Amino acid sequence: MTVLVKPKPIEGHKVRAFQMLIDGKWVDSAEGRTIERVAPGHGVVVSRYQAGTKADAEKAIAAARRAFDEGSWPRMTASQRSLVLLRAADIIAERADELAYLDAIESGKPISQAKGELGGAADIWRYAAALARDLHGESYNTLGDGTLGVVLREAIGVVSIITPWNFPFLIVSQKLPFALAAGCTTVVKPSELTSASTLLLGEILEAAGVPAGVVNIITGTGPEVGAPMTTHPDVDMVSFTGSTGVGRLTMANAAQTLKKVSLELGGKNPQIVFPDANLDEFIDAAVFGAYFNAGECCNAGSRLILHRDIADEVTRRIAELSAKVKVGDPLDPETQVGAIITPQHLEKIAGYVSAASRDGAAVAHGGTALDLGMGQFMAPTILSSVRPDMAVAREEVFGPVLSVLTFETTEEAIRIANAIDYGLSAGVWSRGFDTCLTIGRRVRAGTIWMNTFMDGAPELPFGGYRQSGLGRELGRHSVEDYTETKTLNMHMGPRTGWWMPR
Ligand code: NDP
Repeated sequence: MTVLVKPKPIEGHKVRAFQMLIDGKWVDSAEGRTIERVAPGHGVVVSRYQAGTKADAEKAIAAARRAFDEGSWPRMTASQRSLVLLRAADIIAERADELAYLDAIESGKPISQAKGELGGAADIWRYAAALARDLHGESYNTLGDGTLGVVLREAIGVVSIITPWNFPFLIVSQKLPFALAAGCTTVVKPSELTSASTLLLGEILEAAGVPAGVVNIITGTGPEVGAPMTTHPDVDMVSFTGSTGVGRLTMANAAQTLKKVSLELGGKNPQIVFPDANLDEFIDAAVFGAYFNAGECCNAGSRLILHRDIADEVTRRIAELSAKVKVGDPLDPETQVGAIITPQHLEKIAGYVSAASRDGAAVAHGGTALDLGMGQFMAPTILSSVRPDMAVAREEVFGPVLSVLTFETTEEAIRIANAIDYGLSAGVWSRGFDTCLTIGRRVRAGTIWMNTFMDGAPELPFGGYRQSGLGRELGRHSVEDYTETKTLNMHMGPRTGWWMPR
């Protein structure tokens, strides 16, 4: 299938040109090349970025290194850093509409959803500001009269932050404020498809009082500017969100200089549904879990594992509700599902559906691209009669495609849920306490939702088992992730060691 993208100009929009933020200055790339972003919902150019190079990445890393080794940020009090983060949160909230608009036109997500993400992001910055003041080590006065042990938590140093296109502002907000709270300095690279809101964040952080060189933001492709951020010896840690393939490459690159790595990768998240569940509530959550952000979401509930006794009824009702989901212009406040990020990605999604149909799956709803006379869109799609060995049941489609599998016993449901490479999240629906807890304890995933799906809060850690990633974001330990532990082992009184008389 070749996707034909139909252009539809956005009323009142002027193409916006951005520079990169390196060492407190807004600059062009070393080679002067630029990247144009075509809005997925409208098929027209909306932004122009600098196509950064390895030389730009190196300048940004050098600036972050200087700011860490010689600058004020790691040395100021936690309360001073906290105040800066709170000011940033306030400005994010003030400029939320502008940021949400940029995320909506560049990623194709619905504007109402983008505004919700901005509210969530401001809240995360506030949470990080609170944690900044609670970061502390430990002391041990239990080691005998002659010894006092103090365990320090020190900022790890320069952190490379690499983010994807699906939640541009939200994902950078799951990393950057915690790194800053710890006292780190950073180089940030947003996806080349959705860089605008992250660049605006640079302006916001300047206004909030982040000193020059502490946050450097560079744009360009992964291989050109992302790769040096994972290999450079002056970088101490890499925090990456994106595909499992690039995550693996990032870890291998970082291994050359033994950097710390934090990875948030893909998911193929099951929702397991028992006959005693509240099916009305589940059906709403199933449609939300599968089609939210057009399914371009690592947490998407893309696999339903339904008890055989309810599978036909539930599939029919989800298909009926899927037909009511409003797919359309990302800037229409009524839209629930927006555009697909690129024409190539839409082809990939449609390819999964065709392959599943050839392998024996049935299309209960959707299954094709939608021609809305603008951009590129995919119909919400539900596939039944999916077998666990099919690609659509095992691989991350990253589109609005829901696969229905069935089970008869709890053991079988757990086996199907765990029989993939991913382990990011899962849902279980039952009124039975034992059933929910059995699934909650036996399914190998970083988050298990019980009688709900895709809820979250900054207090709750997020991350995956197995090939869904390494480490956790958010939660009260999130600032500690950006630290090193140092032991101060102090001796008091006369030495009673090797050569000294005891
Ligand atoms: P990628 O993993 O390619 O991109 C994520 C980030 O990594 C982007 O900023 C990208 O830059 C950068 N990058 C790419 N190559 C390198 C490299 N060699 N070294 C360092 N950084 C690099 O994901 P895509 O955006 O291409 O999406 C592909 C698939 O990944 C999706 O279909 C989906 O399955 C999965 N995905 C998962 C996400 C999640 O939240 N877990 C998020 C996004 C995607 P750039 O794109 O600018 O070249």
